[in-house]
Amino acid sequence: MLSMLLRYTQEKHCCPHCSQDLTLCHAPPIHVGDGLGWGSEYLFICLNDTCPMFVNGWDYIANQYGRVGSYRYMELPNSKEQFSMMVVTKEAFTGSIVDLEAIKKQNERYQRQQEAIAALDTCIERNNLEPVLAVLLDDSARIDERRRAVTMLAPINDICCVEPLRNHVFKDPHLQQEVNLALNQILARNFLKECPYCSELIKARAAVCKHCQREVAGV
Ligand SMILES: [Zn+2]
Ligand SMILES: [Zn+2]
Repeated sequence: MLSMLLRYTQEKHCCPHCSQDLTLCHAPPIHVGDGLGWGSEYLFICLNDTCPMFVNGWDYIANQYGRVGSYRYMELPNSKEQFSMMVVTKEAFTGSIVDLEAIKKQNERYQRQQEAIAALDTCIERNNLEPVLAVLLDDSARIDERRRAVTMLAPINDICCVEPLRNHVFKDPHLQQEVNLALNQILARNFLKECPYCSELIKARAAVCKHCQREVAGV
């Protein structure tokens, strides 16, 4: 779906009536002309309000059919076939323009996520916490990938993971629990604990927190 859309964004479609680039839009659910679908979820449409086809269409339709309406020039993705589509307002289709920037951003996010997931394979031998955090903190990543990432925390044993993971709210309670367990393991291995009052990391055997000066013996 995303890759198909990205391919469409590479396609250049140009209006033969006004020479302007056509705009990629979501197709309306039904082909008004014959009741069939367009066979495509996306259409390239000339949304230029000064396009001669659109400007002259109002008079044409008024004269021919006695109705209010005009035509927008249109092509289907992957095709050079020419269509004209009747519209009854100037705003028709302007609400269904495909947001290309959002799609590109979504794709970049997806690519980064895939790279991080691939990097999990070697993160322990490379002592690389980065992809582990990237996958864990990404709420859109698959739960099995995130749970796999949790298991890498203790072997990597990098205390830098505490702060970002504590600051993240995991919507999945099981995942949250697994993260908490891993963090406790890492703290214990590094002879550290979190001050219950100010959350700073302190020595496990400290009796007084060096950050907030409160008593922390036995907590
Ligand atoms: Zn045009
Ligand atoms: Zn403290």
